[in-house]
Amino acid sequence: MQNTPTDQINTIFQSQKDFFLTNQTKNVQYRLDALKKLKKWVQVHEEDIAEALYDDLRKSKVESFLTEIGMVLEDLSLHIGKIHKWSGRKSVLPALNNFPARSGIMPEPYGCVLNISPWNYPFLLTIQPLIGIISAGNTAIIKPSEMASTTAQLIDDMIKELFPPEYIAVFQGDKETAQALLKCPFDYIFYTGNTIVGKIIMKAAAEHLTPLTLELGGKSPVIVHKDANIAIAARRIAWGKTINAGQTCVAPDYIFVHKSVKSKLVEKISEAIDEFYEHDTENGPFARIINDRHFDRLFSYMKDQTILRGGETDAEIRYIAPTIIDEPDTESPLMQEEIFGPLLPIIAYENLDETINFINKRPKPLALYLFTSSKEIRKKVAMETSSGALTINDTIMHLGNHRLPFGGVGGSGMGAYHGKYSFDTFSHHKAIMINSGSIDLPVRYAPYNGFKEKLLRLFLG
Ligand code: NAD
Repeated sequence: MQNTPTDQINTIFQSQKDFFLTNQTKNVQYRLDALKKLKKWVQVHEEDIAEALYDDLRKSKVESFLTEIGMVLEDLSLHIGKIHKWSGRKSVLPALNNFPARSGIMPEPYGCVLNISPWNYPFLLTIQPLIGIISAGNTAIIKPSEMASTTAQLIDDMIKELFPPEYIAVFQGDKETAQALLKCPFDYIFYTGNTIVGKIIMKAAAEHLTPLTLELGGKSPVIVHKDANIAIAARRIAWGKTINAGQTCVAPDYIFVHKSVKSKLVEKISEAIDEFYEHDTENGPFARIINDRHFDRLFSYMKDQTILRGGETDAEIRYIAPTIIDEPDTESPLMQEEIFGPLLPIIAYENLDETINFINKRPKPLALYLFTSSKEIRKKVAMETSSGALTINDTIMHLGNHRLPFGGVGGSGMGAYHGKYSFDTFSHHKAIMINSGSIDLPVRYAPYNGFKEKLLRLFLG
Protein backbone atom coordinates (compact mmCIF):
# COMPACT_ATOMS: atom_id res chain seq x y z
CA MET A 1 0.00 0.00 0.00
CA GLN A 2 1.17 3.56 -0.81
CA ASN A 3 2.48 5.69 2.06
CA THR A 4 0.47 8.94 1.61
CA PRO A 5 1.62 12.36 2.92
CA THR A 6 -1.07 12.04 5.60
CA ASP A 7 0.38 8.66 6.65
CA GLN A 8 3.84 10.24 6.87
CA ILE A 9 2.47 13.10 8.95
CA ASN A 10 0.66 10.72 11.30
CA THR A 11 3.75 8.53 11.65
CA ILE A 12 6.04 11.44 12.52
CA PHE A 13 3.45 13.03 14.79
CA GLN A 14 2.99 9.76 16.71
CA SER A 15 6.76 9.24 16.92
CA GLN A 16 7.11 12.75 18.43
CA LYS A 17 4.34 12.05 20.96
CA ASP A 18 6.13 8.82 21.95
CA PHE A 19 9.51 10.53 22.08
CA PHE A 20 8.15 13.31 24.28
CA LEU A 21 6.91 10.70 26.74
CA THR A 22 10.45 9.34 27.13
CA ASN A 23 11.08 12.66 29.01
CA GLN A 24 14.37 13.27 27.18
CA THR A 25 13.36 16.77 26.07
CA LYS A 26 12.56 17.66 29.67
CA ASN A 27 16.23 17.33 30.51
CA VAL A 28 17.64 20.86 30.43
CA GLN A 29 21.02 19.63 29.19
CA TYR A 30 19.29 17.98 26.22
CA ARG A 31 17.65 21.28 25.27
CA LEU A 32 20.88 23.18 25.80
CA ASP A 33 22.77 20.80 23.50
CA ALA A 34 20.07 21.23 20.84
CA LEU A 35 20.27 25.04 21.05
CA LYS A 36 24.06 24.97 20.84
CA LYS A 37 23.97 22.67 17.81
CA LEU A 38 21.51 25.00 16.14
CA LYS A 39 23.66 28.04 16.91
CA LYS A 40 26.78 26.40 15.54
CA TRP A 41 24.98 25.43 12.34
CA VAL A 42 23.71 28.97 11.79
CA GLN A 43 27.19 30.41 12.38
CA VAL A 44 28.86 27.96 10.01
CA HIS A 45 26.18 28.34 7.31
CA GLU A 46 25.62 32.09 7.49
CA GLU A 47 26.57 32.45 3.82
CA ASP A 48 24.20 29.65 2.75
CA ILE A 49 21.32 31.23 4.65
CA ALA A 50 22.01 34.64 3.07
CA GLU A 51 22.15 33.02 -0.38
CA ALA A 52 18.82 31.28 0.16
CA LEU A 53 17.27 34.60 1.25
CA TYR A 54 18.75 36.30 -1.79
CA ASP A 55 17.29 33.59 -4.00
CA ASP A 56 13.81 33.89 -2.48
CA LEU A 57 13.61 37.64 -1.90
CA ARG A 58 16.78 39.16 -3.38
CA LYS A 59 17.64 40.39 0.10
CA SER A 60 21.07 41.94 0.44
CA LYS A 61 23.57 40.13 2.63
CA VAL A 62 23.70 42.88 5.24
CA GLU A 63 19.91 43.12 5.41
CA SER A 64 19.69 39.34 5.83
CA PHE A 65 22.10 39.51 8.74
CA LEU A 66 20.46 42.55 10.31
CA THR A 67 16.86 41.33 10.07
CA GLU A 68 17.11 37.53 10.16
CA ILE A 69 20.38 35.73 10.92
CA GLY A 70 21.64 38.19 13.55
CA MET A 71 18.32 38.15 15.41
CA VAL A 72 18.32 34.34 15.44
CA LEU A 73 21.87 34.24 16.80
CA GLU A 74 21.08 36.83 19.46
CA ASP A 75 18.01 34.90 20.64
CA LEU A 76 19.96 31.63 20.65
CA SER A 77 22.69 33.16 22.82
CA LEU A 78 20.10 34.50 25.24
CA HIS A 79 18.28 31.16 25.57
CA ILE A 80 21.56 29.28 25.95
CA GLY A 81 22.60 31.66 28.74
CA LYS A 82 19.29 31.71 30.57
CA ILE A 83 17.73 28.28 30.11
CA HIS A 84 18.77 26.96 33.53
CA LYS A 85 17.29 29.99 35.27
CA TRP A 86 14.07 30.06 33.23
CA SER A 87 13.35 26.34 33.47
CA GLY A 88 13.72 26.13 37.24
CA ARG A 89 10.77 25.87 39.60
CA LYS A 90 9.88 29.18 41.28
CA SER A 91 8.58 29.27 44.84
CA VAL A 92 5.69 31.56 45.68
CA LEU A 93 4.67 32.73 49.15
CA PRO A 94 2.37 30.29 50.98
CA ALA A 95 -1.24 31.24 51.67
CA LEU A 96 -2.59 31.28 55.20
CA ASN A 97 -5.60 29.20 54.17
CA ASN A 98 -3.48 26.23 53.11
CA PHE A 99 -0.95 26.36 55.94
CA PRO A 100 1.50 24.57 56.27
CA ALA A 101 1.71 23.87 52.51
CA ARG A 102 4.47 25.26 50.27
CA SER A 103 3.64 26.42 46.74
CA GLY A 104 5.55 26.91 43.52
CA ILE A 105 5.27 27.25 39.76
CA MET A 106 6.90 24.72 37.47
CA PRO A 107 7.26 25.51 33.77
CA GLU A 108 6.62 22.33 31.80
CA PRO A 109 6.70 21.79 28.03
CA TYR A 110 3.36 21.36 26.29
CA GLY A 111 4.53 18.42 24.19
CA CYS A 112 4.43 18.40 20.41
CA VAL A 113 4.27 21.86 18.79
CA LEU A 114 3.25 22.76 15.25
CA ASN A 115 5.06 25.81 13.85
CA ILE A 116 3.64 27.21 10.59
CA SER A 117 5.64 30.10 9.15
CA PRO A 118 5.38 32.64 6.28
CA TRP A 119 7.64 33.69 3.41
CA ASN A 120 8.60 37.28 4.22
CA TYR A 121 11.32 36.60 6.83
CA PRO A 122 11.39 32.88 6.10
CA PHE A 123 14.44 32.00 8.19
CA LEU A 124 13.80 34.25 11.19
CA LEU A 125 10.10 33.52 11.49
CA THR A 126 10.64 29.77 11.40
CA ILE A 127 13.70 29.55 13.62
CA GLN A 128 12.96 32.18 16.24
CA PRO A 129 9.80 30.35 17.40
CA LEU A 130 11.75 27.08 17.19
CA ILE A 131 14.28 28.44 19.71
CA GLY A 132 11.48 28.89 22.25
CA ILE A 133 9.98 25.50 21.40
CA ILE A 134 13.32 23.77 22.04
CA SER A 135 14.27 25.79 25.08
CA ALA A 136 10.91 25.06 26.76
CA GLY A 137 11.44 21.32 26.13
CA ASN A 138 8.95 20.50 23.37
CA THR A 139 9.22 18.53 20.15
CA ALA A 140 8.38 20.34 16.91
CA ILE A 141 6.91 19.88 13.48
CA ILE A 142 7.72 22.80 11.21
CA LYS A 143 5.81 23.83 8.09
CA PRO A 144 7.79 26.58 6.35
CA SER A 145 6.21 28.66 3.61
CA GLU A 146 6.19 27.16 0.14
CA MET A 147 6.54 30.68 -1.26
CA ALA A 148 10.13 31.00 0.01
CA SER A 149 11.07 27.56 -1.29
CA THR A 150 14.88 27.89 -1.25
CA THR A 151 14.87 28.86 2.42
CA ALA A 152 12.31 26.12 3.16
CA GLN A 153 14.68 23.56 1.60
CA LEU A 154 17.62 24.96 3.58
CA ILE A 155 15.64 24.68 6.83
CA ASP A 156 14.60 21.14 5.91
CA ASP A 157 18.24 20.15 5.25
CA MET A 158 19.41 21.84 8.45
CA ILE A 159 16.86 20.09 10.65
CA LYS A 160 17.56 16.69 9.04
CA GLU A 161 21.28 17.18 9.67
CA LEU A 162 20.85 18.27 13.29
CA PHE A 163 17.92 16.42 14.83
CA PRO A 164 16.11 13.08 14.60
CA PRO A 165 12.56 13.39 13.17
CA GLU A 166 10.98 12.14 16.38
CA TYR A 167 12.35 15.34 17.96
CA ILE A 168 12.13 17.96 15.21
CA ALA A 169 10.79 17.42 11.70
CA VAL A 170 9.97 19.57 8.69
CA PHE A 171 7.07 19.10 6.30
CA GLN A 172 7.38 21.19 3.18
CA GLY A 173 4.29 21.92 1.13
CA ASP A 174 1.45 24.33 0.61
CA LYS A 175 -1.84 24.84 2.41
CA GLU A 176 -2.87 21.21 1.77
CA THR A 177 0.12 20.08 3.85
CA ALA A 178 -0.70 22.67 6.54
CA GLN A 179 -4.28 21.48 6.67
CA ALA A 180 -3.25 17.82 6.87
CA LEU A 181 -0.97 18.73 9.78
CA LEU A 182 -3.74 20.67 11.48
CA LYS A 183 -5.82 17.49 11.72
CA CYS A 184 -3.35 16.09 14.30
CA PRO A 185 -4.07 16.85 17.97
CA PHE A 186 -0.98 18.99 18.60
CA ASP A 187 -0.26 20.25 22.10
CA TYR A 188 0.43 23.78 20.88
CA ILE A 189 0.19 25.63 17.56
CA PHE A 190 2.28 28.65 16.63
CA TYR A 191 1.18 30.35 13.42
CA THR A 192 2.67 33.38 11.68
CA GLY A 193 0.89 34.72 8.62
CA ASN A 194 -2.15 36.57 7.40
CA THR A 195 -5.36 37.16 9.34
CA ILE A 196 -7.66 35.18 7.03
CA VAL A 197 -5.59 32.01 7.43
CA GLY A 198 -5.24 32.83 11.14
CA LYS A 199 -8.97 32.22 11.49
CA ILE A 200 -8.65 28.84 9.72
CA ILE A 201 -5.84 27.88 12.10
CA MET A 202 -7.85 28.92 15.14
CA LYS A 203 -10.85 26.86 14.01
CA ALA A 204 -8.62 23.82 13.51
CA ALA A 205 -7.06 24.35 16.95
CA ALA A 206 -10.50 24.60 18.54
CA GLU A 207 -11.31 21.09 17.26
CA HIS A 208 -8.71 19.67 19.69
CA LEU A 209 -8.79 22.53 22.23
CA THR A 210 -5.18 23.17 21.33
CA PRO A 211 -3.73 26.41 22.76
CA LEU A 212 -2.16 28.66 20.16
CA THR A 213 -0.30 31.83 19.31
CA LEU A 214 -1.35 33.80 16.24
CA GLU A 215 1.26 36.21 14.91
CA LEU A 216 -0.80 38.07 12.30
CA GLY A 217 -0.52 41.28 10.34
CA GLY A 218 -2.66 44.23 9.30
CA LYS A 219 -2.07 47.92 8.83
CA SER A 220 0.51 49.57 11.12
CA PRO A 221 -0.08 53.35 10.95
CA VAL A 222 2.37 56.18 11.56
CA ILE A 223 1.45 59.52 13.11
CA VAL A 224 3.89 62.37 12.56
CA HIS A 225 2.98 65.29 14.77
CA LYS A 226 3.97 68.87 13.99
CA ASP A 227 6.55 68.97 16.79
CA ALA A 228 8.49 65.91 15.55
CA ASN A 229 12.06 66.02 14.31
CA ILE A 230 11.05 65.65 10.65
CA ALA A 231 14.49 64.80 9.26
CA ILE A 232 14.88 61.89 11.69
CA ALA A 233 11.26 60.78 11.34
CA ALA A 234 11.65 60.69 7.55
CA ARG A 235 14.78 58.50 7.63
CA ARG A 236 13.29 56.07 10.13
CA ILE A 237 10.01 55.79 8.24
CA ALA A 238 11.84 55.38 4.91
CA TRP A 239 14.03 52.64 6.38
CA GLY A 240 11.12 50.80 8.04
CA LYS A 241 9.08 50.95 4.84
CA THR A 242 11.81 49.85 2.45
CA ILE A 243 13.58 46.98 4.22
CA ASN A 244 12.49 43.78 2.49
CA ALA A 245 10.65 46.06 0.01
CA GLY A 246 7.98 46.77 2.60
CA GLN A 247 7.12 43.08 3.01
CA THR A 248 7.43 43.33 6.78
CA CYS A 249 4.58 42.64 9.18
CA VAL A 250 5.42 45.77 11.19
CA ALA A 251 6.32 47.98 8.21
CA PRO A 252 4.81 51.46 8.47
CA ASP A 253 1.68 50.98 6.37
CA TYR A 254 0.50 54.58 5.92
CA ILE A 255 1.28 57.99 7.42
CA PHE A 256 -0.90 60.57 9.07
CA VAL A 257 1.13 63.78 9.18
CA HIS A 258 0.20 67.16 10.57
CA LYS A 259 -0.59 69.36 7.56
CA SER A 260 1.97 72.01 8.60
CA VAL A 261 4.89 69.59 8.14
CA LYS A 262 3.59 67.36 5.34
CA SER A 263 5.60 68.80 2.42
CA LYS A 264 8.81 68.78 4.45
CA LEU A 265 8.22 65.14 5.46
CA VAL A 266 7.60 64.07 1.84
CA GLU A 267 10.76 65.86 0.71
CA LYS A 268 12.87 64.28 3.47
CA ILE A 269 11.49 60.75 2.93
CA SER A 270 12.30 61.08 -0.79
CA GLU A 271 15.81 62.23 0.01
CA ALA A 272 16.32 59.34 2.42
CA ILE A 273 15.12 56.76 -0.13
CA ASP A 274 17.40 58.22 -2.80
CA GLU A 275 20.32 58.08 -0.41
CA PHE A 276 19.62 54.49 0.76
CA TYR A 277 19.06 53.02 -2.70
CA GLU A 278 21.14 55.36 -4.87
CA HIS A 279 18.40 55.78 -7.51
CA ASP A 280 19.23 52.23 -8.51
CA THR A 281 16.42 50.03 -9.78
CA GLU A 282 18.53 47.14 -11.00
CA ASN A 283 21.40 46.55 -8.61
CA GLY A 284 20.57 48.50 -5.48
CA PRO A 285 20.16 46.68 -2.20
CA PHE A 286 16.40 46.64 -2.57
CA ALA A 287 14.45 43.39 -2.19
CA ARG A 288 11.98 42.13 -4.80
CA ILE A 289 8.29 41.40 -4.49
CA ILE A 290 7.90 37.73 -3.61
CA ASN A 291 5.78 36.62 -6.60
CA ASP A 292 3.65 37.78 -9.53
CA ARG A 293 0.42 37.62 -7.53
CA HIS A 294 1.72 40.08 -4.94
CA PHE A 295 3.32 42.24 -7.68
CA ASP A 296 -0.05 42.48 -9.48
CA ARG A 297 -1.85 43.22 -6.21
CA LEU A 298 0.52 46.09 -5.39
CA PHE A 299 0.46 47.36 -8.97
CA SER A 300 -3.34 47.54 -8.82
CA TYR A 301 -3.18 49.61 -5.61
CA MET A 302 -1.35 52.36 -7.51
CA LYS A 303 -4.09 52.76 -10.12
CA ASP A 304 -5.71 56.23 -10.09
CA GLN A 305 -3.54 57.39 -7.19
CA THR A 306 -1.51 60.61 -7.03
CA ILE A 307 2.13 59.60 -6.89
CA LEU A 308 4.50 62.05 -5.22
CA ARG A 309 7.63 59.94 -5.62
CA GLY A 310 8.52 56.61 -7.25
CA GLY A 311 5.88 54.66 -9.13
CA GLU A 312 8.39 52.87 -11.40
CA THR A 313 7.85 49.14 -11.81
CA ASP A 314 9.43 46.25 -13.69
CA ALA A 315 7.19 43.19 -13.79
CA GLU A 316 9.96 41.01 -15.23
CA ILE A 317 12.05 41.29 -12.07
CA ARG A 318 9.09 42.07 -9.77
CA TYR A 319 10.55 45.46 -8.87
CA ILE A 320 8.43 48.25 -7.46
CA ALA A 321 10.20 51.48 -6.53
CA PRO A 322 9.54 52.97 -3.10
CA THR A 323 6.46 55.04 -3.87
CA ILE A 324 4.79 57.83 -1.92
CA ILE A 325 1.06 58.19 -2.60
CA ASP A 326 -0.75 61.43 -1.81
CA GLU A 327 -4.09 61.56 0.00
CA PRO A 328 -5.58 58.23 -1.15
CA ASP A 329 -9.29 57.59 -0.78
CA THR A 330 -9.60 55.88 2.60
CA GLU A 331 -12.13 53.47 1.06
CA SER A 332 -9.64 52.33 -1.66
CA PRO A 333 -8.03 48.84 -1.39
CA LEU A 334 -4.72 50.62 -0.68
CA MET A 335 -6.21 51.93 2.56
CA GLN A 336 -8.44 48.95 3.35
CA GLU A 337 -5.94 46.09 3.02
CA GLU A 338 -2.48 45.58 4.48
CA ILE A 339 -0.11 46.97 1.82
CA PHE A 340 2.86 44.66 2.41
CA GLY A 341 4.99 46.34 -0.24
CA PRO A 342 6.91 49.58 -0.88
CA LEU A 343 3.88 51.88 -1.27
CA LEU A 344 3.53 54.63 1.30
CA PRO A 345 0.25 56.55 1.45
CA ILE A 346 0.43 59.90 3.19
CA ILE A 347 -2.55 61.78 4.59
CA ALA A 348 -2.53 65.23 6.22
CA TYR A 349 -4.40 65.86 9.45
CA GLU A 350 -5.32 68.93 11.43
CA ASN A 351 -6.91 67.35 14.44
CA LEU A 352 -5.13 64.55 16.28
CA ASP A 353 -8.37 63.32 17.87
CA GLU A 354 -9.80 62.58 14.42
CA THR A 355 -6.66 60.65 13.53
CA ILE A 356 -6.88 58.60 16.72
CA ASN A 357 -10.54 57.99 16.00
CA PHE A 358 -9.71 56.77 12.47
CA ILE A 359 -7.17 54.27 13.87
CA ASN A 360 -9.50 53.11 16.64
CA LYS A 361 -12.31 52.36 14.20
CA ARG A 362 -10.10 49.82 12.39
CA PRO A 363 -8.58 46.48 13.50
CA LYS A 364 -5.96 46.92 16.23
CA PRO A 365 -2.53 47.37 14.60
CA LEU A 366 0.46 45.11 15.19
CA ALA A 367 2.51 48.30 15.63
CA LEU A 368 1.61 51.96 15.92
CA TYR A 369 4.32 54.54 15.29
CA LEU A 370 4.26 58.06 16.67
CA PHE A 371 6.77 60.83 16.01
CA THR A 372 6.56 63.69 18.47
CA SER A 373 8.65 65.58 21.00
CA SER A 374 5.72 66.12 23.33
CA LYS A 375 5.26 64.02 26.44
CA GLU A 376 1.55 64.89 26.51
CA ILE A 377 0.99 63.67 22.94
CA ARG A 378 2.93 60.50 23.76
CA LYS A 379 0.76 59.84 26.81
CA LYS A 380 -2.43 60.66 24.94
CA VAL A 381 -1.74 58.25 22.07
CA ALA A 382 -0.57 55.51 24.46
CA MET A 383 -3.74 55.90 26.54
CA GLU A 384 -6.26 56.30 23.75
CA THR A 385 -5.16 53.62 21.27
CA SER A 386 -4.52 49.86 21.40
CA SER A 387 -1.89 48.04 19.35
CA GLY A 388 0.58 45.16 19.69
CA ALA A 389 3.33 47.73 20.20
CA LEU A 390 3.60 51.51 20.33
CA THR A 391 6.96 52.79 19.14
CA ILE A 392 7.75 56.44 19.58
CA ASN A 393 10.18 58.30 17.33
CA ASP A 394 11.19 55.10 15.51
CA THR A 395 9.88 52.25 13.39
CA ILE A 396 10.43 48.48 13.71
CA MET A 397 13.26 48.80 16.23
CA HIS A 398 11.13 47.58 19.16
CA LEU A 399 11.81 44.10 17.74
CA GLY A 400 15.44 44.59 18.67
CA ASN A 401 14.76 44.44 22.41
CA HIS A 402 14.22 40.86 23.56
CA ARG A 403 12.84 42.20 26.85
CA LEU A 404 9.76 43.39 24.97
CA PRO A 405 7.02 40.91 24.06
CA PHE A 406 6.39 40.75 20.32
CA GLY A 407 2.83 40.04 19.25
CA GLY A 408 -0.47 41.50 18.24
CA VAL A 409 -3.81 42.22 19.83
CA GLY A 410 -7.27 41.72 18.34
CA GLY A 411 -7.00 41.51 14.54
CA SER A 412 -3.20 41.58 14.64
CA GLY A 413 -2.98 38.38 16.68
CA MET A 414 -2.80 36.88 20.13
CA GLY A 415 0.10 35.83 22.31
CA ALA A 416 3.69 37.01 22.07
CA TYR A 417 7.25 35.75 21.88
CA HIS A 418 10.95 36.80 21.68
CA GLY A 419 13.48 36.24 24.46
CA LYS A 420 11.95 35.01 27.72
CA TYR A 421 8.44 35.48 26.26
CA SER A 422 9.23 32.63 23.84
CA PHE A 423 10.16 30.34 26.72
CA ASP A 424 6.94 31.27 28.52
CA THR A 425 4.80 30.91 25.39
CA PHE A 426 5.88 27.32 24.86
CA SER A 427 5.67 26.37 28.56
CA HIS A 428 2.64 25.50 30.62
CA HIS A 429 3.09 27.12 34.03
CA LYS A 430 2.04 24.34 36.35
CA ALA A 431 0.92 25.24 39.86
CA ILE A 432 2.44 22.96 42.49
CA MET A 433 1.36 22.77 46.10
CA ILE A 434 3.12 20.52 48.62
CA ASN A 435 1.22 20.02 51.82
CA SER A 436 2.44 18.32 54.94
CA GLY A 437 1.66 14.61 55.12
CA SER A 438 1.63 14.66 58.92
CA ILE A 439 -0.30 17.74 60.10
CA ASP A 440 -4.05 17.75 59.32
CA LEU A 441 -5.93 20.81 60.56
CA PRO A 442 -9.63 19.88 61.00
CA VAL A 443 -11.10 23.32 60.24
CA ARG A 444 -12.11 22.58 56.62
CA TYR A 445 -13.95 19.36 57.44
CA ALA A 446 -17.63 18.98 58.36
CA PRO A 447 -19.36 18.97 60.73
CA TYR A 448 -19.03 22.76 60.83
CA ASN A 449 -19.61 24.80 64.00
CA GLY A 450 -19.35 28.39 65.12
CA PHE A 451 -15.67 28.16 66.03
CA LYS A 452 -14.73 26.68 62.64
CA GLU A 453 -16.78 29.31 60.87
CA LYS A 454 -14.98 32.07 62.81
CA LEU A 455 -11.62 30.60 61.85
CA LEU A 456 -12.63 30.26 58.19
CA ARG A 457 -13.77 33.86 58.16
CA LEU A 458 -10.43 34.89 59.67
CA PHE A 459 -8.47 33.00 56.96
CA LEU A 460 -10.64 33.89 53.96
CA GLY A 461 -12.28 37.21 54.80
P1 NAD B 1 2.13 32.56 3.54
O1 NAD B 1 1.28 32.65 2.31
O2 NAD B 1 3.51 32.01 3.45
O3 NAD B 1 1.27 31.77 4.61
C1 NAD B 1 1.76 31.50 5.92
C2 NAD B 1 1.71 30.01 6.15
O4 NAD B 1 0.34 29.59 6.17
C3 NAD B 1 2.40 29.19 5.07
O5 NAD B 1 3.19 28.19 5.67
C4 NAD B 1 1.25 28.64 4.27
O6 NAD B 1 1.53 27.40 3.64
C5 NAD B 1 0.16 28.48 5.31
N1 NAD B 1 -1.18 28.54 4.75
C6 NAD B 1 -1.60 29.30 3.71
N2 NAD B 1 -2.92 29.09 3.49
C7 NAD B 1 -3.33 28.20 4.40
C8 NAD B 1 -4.57 27.58 4.69
N3 NAD B 1 -5.67 27.86 3.98
N4 NAD B 1 -4.63 26.70 5.73
C9 NAD B 1 -3.53 26.42 6.46
N5 NAD B 1 -2.33 26.97 6.23
C10 NAD B 1 -2.22 27.85 5.21
O7 NAD B 1 2.33 33.98 4.21
P2 NAD B 1 1.31 35.16 4.32
O8 NAD B 1 0.16 34.75 5.14
O9 NAD B 1 1.09 35.83 3.03
O10 NAD B 1 2.26 36.11 5.20
C11 NAD B 1 2.11 37.46 5.20
C12 NAD B 1 1.18 37.89 6.32
O11 NAD B 1 1.73 37.47 7.55
C13 NAD B 1 1.01 39.38 6.43
O12 NAD B 1 -0.31 39.67 6.81
C14 NAD B 1 1.97 39.75 7.55
O13 NAD B 1 1.64 40.95 8.21
C15 NAD B 1 1.84 38.56 8.44
N6 NAD B 1 3.05 38.39 9.22
C16 NAD B 1 2.97 38.53 10.57
C17 NAD B 1 4.12 38.42 11.33
C18 NAD B 1 4.09 38.58 12.81
O14 NAD B 1 5.09 38.25 13.43
N7 NAD B 1 3.01 39.04 13.41
C19 NAD B 1 5.34 38.17 10.72
C20 NAD B 1 5.36 38.02 9.34
C21 NAD B 1 4.22 38.12 8.59
